[in-house]
Amino acid sequence: MRLVVLGPPGAGKGTQAVRIAEQFACADVATGDIFRANVAEGTELGRAAQEYMDRGDLVPDEVVIAMVMERLAERDCQAGFLLDGFPRTVAQAEALDRRLAELGTPLEAALSFDVTEEELLRRLAGRAAAQHRADDVEQTIRHRLEVFAIKTRPLIDYYAHRGLLISVDAIGPIEVVTKRILTALEGNRRSG
Ligand code: AMP
Repeated sequence: MRLVVLGPPGAGKGTQAVRIAEQFACADVATGDIFRANVAEGTELGRAAQEYMDRGDLVPDEVVIAMVMERLAERDCQAGFLLDGFPRTVAQAEALDRRLAELGTPLEAALSFDVTEEELLRRLAGRAAAQHRADDVEQTIRHRLEVFAIKTRPLIDYYAHRGLLISVDAIGPIEVVTKRILTALEGNRRSG
């Protein structure tokens, strides 16, 4: 399975990505997690990313693209991958398409999580309290939602035009949403 997962912050991408990757035995590549690990370890990449992350801005495309291309070359991605949090801009999506075309392994689907803004704000406030994520304070949350709307939402059309978009209603209990996703992906595989 080669899949990208799209959705605003708080849509449940991370939670579902782990479950989908397990189901299809493919690598779960979460760019936010990679950045957070690098920040915690104090690496050069972490230092390059931190100020953007703390503000709720996107890390520059060239930094993210280089990191993801390296990660996709690792062995575990050969069996397939699920990208959680990448691409977030059209430039990132184009870079991914180019690389996958070179490898002859195009994407199979782009999974888009549909959630209302009201539900997102409720979930993100809960996550801020539970996990102490620096980027989950209210002002930053609003900024991240704006960044999503401006930079990332256009990817929904980008993938729709390519016939790859699968939209899933992401409101409901975790297991119910997982089931919806797996049903949609299985249907897509049968028809594709
Ligand atoms: P996430 O955990 O996916 O919400 O990502 C946390 C933060 O990491 C984002 O708010 C960005 O600052 C940064 N980040 C993660 N993925 C990307 C990406 N594909 N492009 C730019 N910045 C990213």
